[in-house]
Amino acid sequence: MKICLVFTPFHRPNSIPFGIAYLKSNLERNIPKVRVKNIDLNVIFFNRVIQEGLNGLGKQCLSNDLECIPLENLVVSGEIKRISERLKKRPSTQKDFNLYVNDAYIFEKFYKEVIDCYQPLFKSFIEQDILTGVLAKILHQDVERILTEEPEIVGFSILAENNFSYSLALAKLIKLRTKIPVILGGAMMAHLEARELLEAFDFIDFIFHGESEIALEKFIKFFPSKKFDKVPSLAYRKGHHIQVHEREYINDLDVIPFPDFSDFDLESYISPEKVLPVISSRGCYWKRCAFCTHNLPYSNYLRCRQIKNVIDELEAQMARFKIRHFLFVDESISPNRLREMSEEILKRDLPVYYGAEGMRPEDDLSYELLEKSYDSGLRWIYLGVESVTQRLLNKMDKGTNVEAVKGIIENCYKIGICPFISYMIGFPTQTEKELREECLFLKEHLPYSTVETSLFTLLKGSSVLNNPDKYKIAVHSQKVLFEMNNKVVHSPVFNFVPKKGLTTHMAEKIADNELFSESHTSFDEIMNTVLSATPFRLSPIDIKTDHLKNYLSSAIKILNTKKLKIEEDYRHFLLGISYKQLNQLELAVAGFERAEKIALEEKFKAKIRFQLGECYERKGRYHEAIHSYEKALEIFSNNGAVYLGLGRALFYLKEYQEAIKKLNKALELNYKEGQVHYLLGFCYEKINNYKKAIAEFKKAEKVEPEDSRINFFLFRRYRSIGQLEHANRELDKWALKFKRIQHRAKSK
Ligand code: SF4
Repeated sequence: MKICLVFTPFHRPNSIPFGIAYLKSNLERNIPKVRVKNIDLNVIFFNRVIQEGLNGLGKQCLSNDLECIPLENLVVSGEIKRISERLKKRPSTQKDFNLYVNDAYIFEKFYKEVIDCYQPLFKSFIEQDILTGVLAKILHQDVERILTEEPEIVGFSILAENNFSYSLALAKLIKLRTKIPVILGGAMMAHLEARELLEAFDFIDFIFHGESEIALEKFIKFFPSKKFDKVPSLAYRKGHHIQVHEREYINDLDVIPFPDFSDFDLESYISPEKVLPVISSRGCYWKRCAFCTHNLPYSNYLRCRQIKNVIDELEAQMARFKIRHFLFVDESISPNRLREMSEEILKRDLPVYYGAEGMRPEDDLSYELLEKSYDSGLRWIYLGVESVTQRLLNKMDKGTNVEAVKGIIENCYKIGICPFISYMIGFPTQTEKELREECLFLKEHLPYSTVETSLFTLLKGSSVLNNPDKYKIAVHSQKVLFEMNNKVVHSPVFNFVPKKGLTTHMAEKIADNELFSESHTSFDEIMNTVLSATPFRLSPIDIKTDHLKNYLSSAIKILNTKKLKIEEDYRHFLLGISYKQLNQLELAVAGFERAEKIALEEKFKAKIRFQLGECYERKGRYHEAIHSYEKALEIFSNNGAVYLGLGRALFYLKEYQEAIKKLNKALELNYKEGQVHYLLGFCYEKINNYKKAIAEFKKAEKVEPEDSRINFFLFRRYRSIGQLEHANRELDKWALKFKRIQHRAKSK
């Protein structure tokens, strides 16, 4: 029997899938007649995009984000190809290393852009059967790739929302063409309702919602008889009913053979060193963090492999694949286990470098232990810091203390291990003062580490969701991922409003301003593992504007040759975008005007008109800007960006009352409220309605708490209406924020 297991986009094309590698080795060892073919469509997808281009993806993009600047020019100019080739080479000097870091930063932007463009297209195919252009071409190629293996069963491994839609789209196409049974599995399945999935998607036959090695083995054995009653962790249709079986856990992880990566072309991954994933345990030994649901797939059940077995795996993979870099992807590794693994590696004198995810910064992670681990090859650790305010750490039930956290970060740096600080923004009850102090701490430690910030998310199964009063939140609805045939598939994420402390929006704004003004970026774990094993050090990103100019200029040259495989209207649109980014507005206008003339699709036309509106506005051609925006509104009638543009153009034409109407419409649409209130403040100023101007500036301050200019305008207005006490208070605020800005500039 032949089974095809597929790993789909979108993941970074440097990560080698290990879930399906485990399934392959287990099935092939235990059922001799079974052959498993693993396909990593993710890395195939990115290599194809880099080589062949996006083929006009930006034109097809369904997003209503009119301000999006497609990064398709990175492909058109050949820049992304050059970048990905450089990213495959190990930097050998600090200068090379800095270039590498810059390249990685641009690649990351490109990667995210591709995801943003494709995701809505998948959704429209899954929910509404719309499949055209570039997406159709890619998906049909993928289906062909799978079907050439002549599988009797196809399984998709789903780790997160990012590769969920792609897998569903392929499953749907496979079912349109064949009767091959389709299975969904992977970590994300434990966070969704299997019943909902089977009700919504008739093209899915089976779901594994727990650990799958043994369960899939049993399933294959019972497949000929179709008697699945004894298959654990399985959900399927039995007659008119949906059966969802209990999860079962593998008690002894050592019985599973080492993962088999032999189906993957390791040379195709975009990384200077191949980094193989390895997992030494399943579940978390701490399992108490209030926000976390990582334990959900394991029902709080921790199992650890024998240390000997883990290090045997490293040795076996080194010999088989001629590699020496590994990444431990455990949910958590206790200091004790880190010690035992380090000692075993040292005892065998293995020349490895490795990174470790899931380290809790606890007291036992001593200097001596870190040093020993360094000697054994540890170069990068992911520290689940989350907060450096003791009150919040206690509330999260992290079980860590601030002093230990600080000590561990500094010790890592002294020893030569790169600590990767995972920091959570907006945990319920966090105050502005706490957040600012934490940002200061993180900034002080930026030279020693990389920081990854994540916004607090309220998850199904988390302690915060189960105890809303304790965490002072009001829980609202559960988010929806898909709506199909009147059936809903819920996301594991809930909406909520904090009753105390910062909203996530405000927390994000403050942190953005305090941290990202440093232009630091956090790389993914693979890149960190590789880079940390070089003698060079990360420094703040220094993206040269020259770089942008260079690739845009070469994109323009190529776009002007007309030999591209993209439609004419999109070619002119891309020219317009390139010139606009280079601030050559006359040429940008010419590009957009040409594109508008020949474009046929109304939605694309409207996108062009919005861009035109912005260019006219920047040139001071406000009447033409208004005309373009109004034309864009014919399609994007509920788009806040257009109303803001209109409001701005009317303001410059001194038509304040009309501007107020348009800006209020943008507010109704919840669009960039800070900017809109700000502009409304000016409109009211101009018509001498100072009270309203003050009210709008105050609202703007709430949304943009970091913007010092707002306090200056408030000062002026209070002074002009004689409220000197208020005026002075605003002046003080302005001075304080201004000082912060200066301090930031200095520390840069
Ligand atoms: S955040 Fe990490 S340490 Fe905390 S419970 Fe989750 S997996 Fe365990």
